[in-house]
Amino acid sequence: MTMQFIDLAAQQSRLRAELDSAIARVLDHGRYILGPEVAELERALGEFSGAADVVTCSSGTDALVLALMALGVGPGDGVVVPSFTFAATAEAVALLGAVPIFVDVDEQSYCLDVDHVRAALADTRPGARPVGVIAVDLFGQPADYPALRSVADEFGCWVVADAAQSFGATLGGVAVGRLATITTTSFFPAKPLGCYGDGGAVFVTEASDAPLLRSLRVHGSGSDKYDNARIGINGRLDTLQAAILLVKLEVFAAEILERQRIAGVYSAQLAGVVVVPHVEDDRTSAWAQYTVRHRDRDRLADGLREVGVPTAIYYPRPLHLQTAYRDYPRGPEGLSRSERLAAEVLSLPMHPYLTGEDQDRVIDAVRHVVLLDDG
Ligand SMILES: *Cc1c(COP(=O)(O)O)cnc(C)c1O
Repeated sequence: MTMQFIDLAAQQSRLRAELDSAIARVLDHGRYILGPEVAELERALGEFSGAADVVTCSSGTDALVLALMALGVGPGDGVVVPSFTFAATAEAVALLGAVPIFVDVDEQSYCLDVDHVRAALADTRPGARPVGVIAVDLFGQPADYPALRSVADEFGCWVVADAAQSFGATLGGVAVGRLATITTTSFFPAKPLGCYGDGGAVFVTEASDAPLLRSLRVHGSGSDKYDNARIGINGRLDTLQAAILLVKLEVFAAEILERQRIAGVYSAQLAGVVVVPHVEDDRTSAWAQYTVRHRDRDRLADGLREVGVPTAIYYPRPLHLQTAYRDYPRGPEGLSRSERLAAEVLSLPMHPYLTGEDQDRVIDAVRHVVLLDDG
């Protein structure tokens, strides 16, 4: 049996009967667009996270676009984003004609460095005026929202949480979805809570922010579908995907605990062999990825591939070095950590159905490759 990097089939076989009947129910009622499962999922996600309201949508990228549209982001606005993230974080900003301002991440958490954010917000060089910050909960650990909130407040800026990787995590006992006034997530199949296609959601802590998001999600609809109050997008979540997510949400809390247990085993066995992830004391991670660092990363990846252990690199190139983003401004503190991380990170197989046997194989292989190189 070849080992999977993320094993979606194991979860599916556990849930197959429930998934089949949930899908059949949608085929029976035929309400494919904004059917009853969509509202039911929004309620269930609100209950899970404690958010005041949840607006589901077509992807994690569209969740960011909807959040920024609701905040009125447009030309002339600057938005601070990390460079060490998936492109969608900066793309949503640029799509709206605003300017992403790239800032470095913290050495330990790989989330935005709060001091570097302050320096970028205080930066008076000509360019776009910062109006807000999008923090990314990289690999599943929430960014330092209390600190980001107070720095953003100093400059009259908002904070949006890009929680595409962290749904299911907590900070200070508070669930993702309630850590920023607007939080976005993704239900892309490989995310901790994934559907069978594209999907996403926007969480708000003020219920009064939800109607605007719901309008933007359906072409800026007003009193009905053919009354257009504003410019919006077609950003709905399919009823079928909502039905699938309702089934998966039933086991999600238990799956997160399994991810945390598996991460604990990796860290106990690999500390000192490679640089293992650091989760701050006040936080839990949803472990979208278990990412280690090693100075000879490519040799480690090759060695693991040779013995059938799949790995992935998130991310091989920071955004400020990508063709589409290299001309955007950078914060005054530079981006050296993002560049070094891109050269050193390696993500190991991580999913709630990873067997002890497979995990031992991964651990033995990492030790073997690293210790062989050192000795
Ligand atoms: C996956 C991801 C997104 C985009 O989500 P999609 O559903 O694929 O559009 C945005 N931000 C981050 C940090 C992600 O990991």
